[in-house]
Amino acid sequence: MSAVSFSSWNGKIIDNRTGKAAKAAVPGIPTMLGDKSFSALMGWNGMVVSETVANIPSLALGYLREARKLSCGECSVCSIGIDRLIGLIDGLIAGKGKKQDIAEIERIARGVMELSKCNFGRASAVTPVYDAVRYYKDDFLALTAGKKGTTRPYKTAVTAPCLEACPARLDIPGYIELIRNNRFGESLDLIRKRCILPGVIGRACTHPCEDACVRNGIDKTLAIRLLKRAAADSDLSSGASALKKPTAERPEKVAVVGAGPAGLAATYHLRRMGYQVTVFEALPKGGGMAAVGIPDYRLPKRILEHEVELIRSLGADFRYNRRIEKLDMDELTAQGFKAIFLGVGAHEGTKMGCKGEDAGYEGFVDGAVFLRELALGKTVEPKGKVVIVGGGNVAMDCARSCVRLGFKDVEILYRRTRKEMPARAEEVDEALEEGIKIRYLVAPVAVLADGNRVRGVECIRMKLGEPDSSGRRRPVPVKGSEFKVKADLVIPAIGQKPDLGFAKDVIQVTGWGTIEVNPDTLRTNLEGVFAGGDCVSGPATLIEALDAGNRAARSIDAYLQGRTLEPEVSFKGIDVKAQRIEGFIDACPQEKVTLLDPKERVKSFDEVEGPFGNDAAMKEANRCLRCYRLVVWE
Ligand SMILES: Cc1cc2nc3c(=O)[nH]c(=O)nc-3n(C[C@H](O)[C@H](O)[C@H](O)COP(=O)(O)OP(=O)(O)OC[C@H]3O[C@@H](n4cnc5c(N)ncnc54)[C@H](O)[C@@H]3O)c2cc1C
Ligand code: SF4
Ligand code: SF4
Repeated sequence: MSAVSFSSWNGKIIDNRTGKAAKAAVPGIPTMLGDKSFSALMGWNGMVVSETVANIPSLALGYLREARKLSCGECSVCSIGIDRLIGLIDGLIAGKGKKQDIAEIERIARGVMELSKCNFGRASAVTPVYDAVRYYKDDFLALTAGKKGTTRPYKTAVTAPCLEACPARLDIPGYIELIRNNRFGESLDLIRKRCILPGVIGRACTHPCEDACVRNGIDKTLAIRLLKRAAADSDLSSGASALKKPTAERPEKVAVVGAGPAGLAATYHLRRMGYQVTVFEALPKGGGMAAVGIPDYRLPKRILEHEVELIRSLGADFRYNRRIEKLDMDELTAQGFKAIFLGVGAHEGTKMGCKGEDAGYEGFVDGAVFLRELALGKTVEPKGKVVIVGGGNVAMDCARSCVRLGFKDVEILYRRTRKEMPARAEEVDEALEEGIKIRYLVAPVAVLADGNRVRGVECIRMKLGEPDSSGRRRPVPVKGSEFKVKADLVIPAIGQKPDLGFAKDVIQVTGWGTIEVNPDTLRTNLEGVFAGGDCVSGPATLIEALDAGNRAARSIDAYLQGRTLEPEVSFKGIDVKAQRIEGFIDACPQEKVTLLDPKERVKSFDEVEGPFGNDAAMKEANRCLRCYRLVVWE
């Protein structure tokens, strides 16, 4: 749909029904749901109708039926109100309604919008139905002449501002609501549908969802990440539930290369569908960067190991210490694999572009390699000073690990200022609390050594220039400002890229050195080969990798079954934060968890962040405003 006949979206009335040609679509009004067009749509923020004759009473009834499923029933004005509205509109369509029913519908709808407790009742539950009886009154009046109306099938989708911001589109209000009602197990089941590493993600997710939480405008975001951890922890402490086994087996074999989050998510979903999955993993354990990147003090390995083991227990054949050296399609086909998923991550350190970095000096080690070796049991003697180059989370992890190893002098060099640092603010704060120094606006120009042993780095001071393509101000060297920093261990941690040597010359790569895929299907240039996670996106996040694995499994299934992949409903381009009815919401402080005292935590790799207990989790969940955004369309 590209033009609107009528819109009440955002409370702004656009009415083109007077015989004139419909005007072009107005910015801010949804006219498509992703690639899906509609003749009429009812949603939390109003209704949008195209020129086509739409069956408005039928759509209003559909909307209310869907809204009733989301009404928790805690305030009767919402649940009973919706039931009454369904009854009245049902009666009208059945030819049994009266004229005064229309005024009654308007009155009840207004009551629900004014008196409901939560954001759903107030802002979503009946809003477009209220608009429909006011602006399409004739359509409802026509049903009072004794003749029966008709109903038409409709489609529906639900989102929420937090859900839209989550890369894997977790049903956040849904799992929070289950926690609120002390149904931790069901909450975990719901989380697992899109996040098969809930304990891991509940600890280490970058939680973009929390930035989008509507509570931010009132007091503070819901602790969405920690609530996920609470669901996972509660399960673990009550004996750990098993994952549901596939209901039927399928004969097709699928190879998954890489047991990182992307590969694990693909494996889980493919196994649940019954496919025979073999996982090839270069390392001796699963989890990818969650296993050999993220340190224990942020993510205890027993949590990850438990979740990997659950996935393995579904019957996938995990082959550890098995690096695929060459992507040989003939060999894989001969072994009977009908589809292949590449989730090989981004493990090759990016070069700093300075003198001496390729000399192979002792005491010079890439950040991701340093953390990997540590995770695989290498001992590091904490002698002298460590210098870490970079301002991202990997740099913070290296620095904080070094402090825990016993290094007394740990310094981070970063070429911009704190404001531009890509590391999460809490990571930087915690690093500073642990005594790590950060020197801003400096960049290395040479690695210094005595013979083959690192002795420090030569740096140059920087100043900030114009913003670059990332939007951050570009660091510009200050001529003649070179100086030396002594160090016994130098760890560059400025980024990683995929190591695609095993697929050289066969797989198509982008200019960024990542695998080229169709963004909808995750298919590569090779027949039957799919890819996702960091090897496609470049270094990103755990939850993005899980999302890639989830999507790859759906796409591989469609491919193997000869179906076209049906895209999910997309709310892209629609402002899901906007809601025209705000109402008054009491401020309510966020529940807090305790952090280990900095003096204590530097002594070991013990987990820094404490958990919510079940009671605190339920209290925190009760702060959720249930900002469901429902849409129904035909
Ligand atoms: C130090 C560090 C800290 C991080 N902290 C966070 C964080 O706090 N929160 C967050 O959200 N994200 C974080 N990330 C990013 C996150 O870990 C990654 O985005 C995520 O793990 C990517 O998942 P993946 O499955 O695509 O790849 P990976 O996790 O890298 O897994 C790829 C797997 O493939 C295997 N493999 C590679 N090549 C082959 C081959 N040829 N044959 C067989 N196996 C192969 C690798 O051994 C590896 O196990 C961090 C990353 C690092 C490096
Ligand atoms: S209040 Fe709840 S539903 Fe609303 S955005 Fe925050 S977490 Fe999501
Ligand atoms: S996975 Fe991350 S982004 Fe998604 S809901 Fe959980 S914490 Fe938020």
